[in-house]
Amino acid sequence: MLRVEGLGKSYNDFVAIGDITAEFAAGKFTCIVGPSGCGKTTLLKCLSGLLAPSKGRVLLNGKPITEPPESMALVFQDYSRSLYPWMTVRENVAFPLRKKRLAASDRDERIEEALASVGLADAMDKYPWQLSGGMQQRTAIARAIAYKPEILLMDEPFASVDAQTRSDLEDLMLRLRARYNMTIVFVTHDIDESVYLGDHIVVLGSRPTTVKETLNVPLAHP
Ligand code: ADP
Ligand code: ADP
Repeated sequence: MLRVEGLGKSYNDFVAIGDITAEFAAGKFTCIVGPSGCGKTTLLKCLSGLLAPSKGRVLLNGKPITEPPESMALVFQDYSRSLYPWMTVRENVAFPLRKKRLAASDRDERIEEALASVGLADAMDKYPWQLSGGMQQRTAIARAIAYKPEILLMDEPFASVDAQTRSDLEDLMLRLRARYNMTIVFVTHDIDESVYLGDHIVVLGSRPTTVKETLNVPLAHP
């Protein structure tokens, strides 16, 4: 359903991505791994329509993506910049839902369910500065979940949290994945994390980047 064909991306003369063809299967968890600087973030930005490819195409259900589709949510690495500091946790999670014209009761239900699923039911009225880094990142994840995207793109979302929190968040992703039938594309430079989380792993080489290998993970996820 989400596919890149012959994708290349250059920044002026600098070729970040040479030629990538890959598929991100509907309802599956695909990890993109590769060394630092190989173009993982660039690929994710092209997948979301935030960056225009220099060559090739990004297709969602056969149609080229030119801007982030309504059916997509993004979670970035830097949680300290992803939440609005003047809004409470609840208000942050509510923010993207404005676009959806939901009844207030439906909206509140989604917010509460999403925050409960990341273990933040008791922190709804707190401000980001009152939360630990892991809690801020869970707020960003809850915001994406409450939106009920068909496609969730995550760029090294656990890179800047401590090891225990990271492991908790990885398990949270597995539970969310079992619960909501989302297509997830997850960028990481950690091969262990990709094997733990992914159904499929797209391994990128170094620049100018192409796909080195596509692996299927023979693990039964919960
Ligand atoms: P990764 O996410 O794998 O670390 P990136 O996609 O961030 O890689 O970057 C790929 C390469 O492109 C890197 O060498 C990076 O320095 C370069 N790059 C990324 N964004 C820009 C930009 N806006 N302008 C110029 N070079 C960039
Ligand atoms: P990541 O590890 O997630 O790729 P980076 O620190 O490489 O993060 O990049 C952070 C942001 O800066 C990205 O949006 C990337 O596109 C941009 N960036 C990276 N390298 C360059 C560069 N050489 N020139 C301009 N922007 C860059």
